[in-house]
Amino acid sequence: NALNFSGGPGALPEVVLNQVQQAIINVPEAGLSILGISHRSDWFENVVRETENNIRTLLGLPSDYHILFLQGGATQQFSMVPMTMLRGKKHPAEYFDTGYWSRKVVTEAMREGPVRVIWSGEQHGYRRLPTDEELDFSPDAPYIHYVSNETVEGLQFNRILGRDDVPRVCDMSSDFLSKPCEADKFSLIYAHAQKNIGPAGVTIVLVRDSVVQNAPDNLPSFLDYRRQVESHSNFNTPPVFAIYVVLLVTRWLLNEVGGLENMTQINQQKAKLLYGLIDGSNDFYRPWGEAAFRSDMNVAFNLPTKDLEALFLNEATAAGFSGLGGHRAIGGVRASIYNALTLGAVEKLTGFMEDFRFKHHA
Ligand code: PLP
Repeated sequence: NALNFSGGPGALPEVVLNQVQQAIINVPEAGLSILGISHRSDWFENVVRETENNIRTLLGLPSDYHILFLQGGATQQFSMVPMTMLRGKKHPAEYFDTGYWSRKVVTEAMREGPVRVIWSGEQHGYRRLPTDEELDFSPDAPYIHYVSNETVEGLQFNRILGRDDVPRVCDMSSDFLSKPCEADKFSLIYAHAQKNIGPAGVTIVLVRDSVVQNAPDNLPSFLDYRRQVESHSNFNTPPVFAIYVVLLVTRWLLNEVGGLENMTQINQQKAKLLYGLIDGSNDFYRPWGEAAFRSDMNVAFNLPTKDLEALFLNEATAAGFSGLGGHRAIGGVRASIYNALTLGAVEKLTGFMEDFRFKHHA
């Protein structure tokens, strides 16, 4: 297989892929292929329960949080959150404009109620995130929302934003379970699976019970967290396969990686290696983000010319590196180094980058 540096869907651990392969043929407990097992079976009920427990253990999540496995991707949460927490509110919810994904979130929230964008990266070309001195949160906001890791630009917050008396909501799609995240400081966290913890098709939502209790009464059932909680993520036919793969990844995180502290150490090592090479490249590789805000998950950079970038991407593909093209919104190169992408794979990439630079340095 090629080494998967794609922004998403990302790589999965090899051991998980082997287990999935087996499960597609036969899940012994059910005597069926995973692709044909009923979502109403005891087997699947156990899958949901264990996956929830594993996530609870990994994050140390208190019991007043529900864990949901929903469909519609992270994009559906862009709307479900304000439908639940913003409808009919007088004071604006506070949102950020830190990159490609947070801009999309703001557009959807504005359909549901008043929104204030409290900081925008536009004047900085989306190359950095705000410092605390630049932020002034209102105590009256119904909630604040931010994206913890901007997948496209490769910018990541390494601190928690907001004030303790205003609910925090966070899109953690591209760094969920890549490190500890103090989940109990948030009222709602959502993350689709296809970066660090599984295939596309399921989105994980952690939501505090008080948010669920205060939801409006007139939401469509499917978009009502309350109904999803009542039915234990089994309101309609859920993506059994995707949830099962998430279970396998959480087992891997717990039993083989040894928890999120270990995972973050490995992830930091990978990022350090790659940024080290970029920063030491005498301006051949040019990082997109300012150093203090660069992501451990998505390493975005440019080369001196568009032609060199195209050549780099062609040669990288030929050498067995997949998915290195930058997001269509900003171009350039992006190496996404999610949980399952190994240190060995990053070493191979840095080796390739070094060779490429020596060949082409003007
Ligand atoms: N939020 C972030 C941070 C993302 O990176 C993405 C997609 O990559 C999305 C939201 C949209 O996710 P989905 O395609 O699951 O709706």
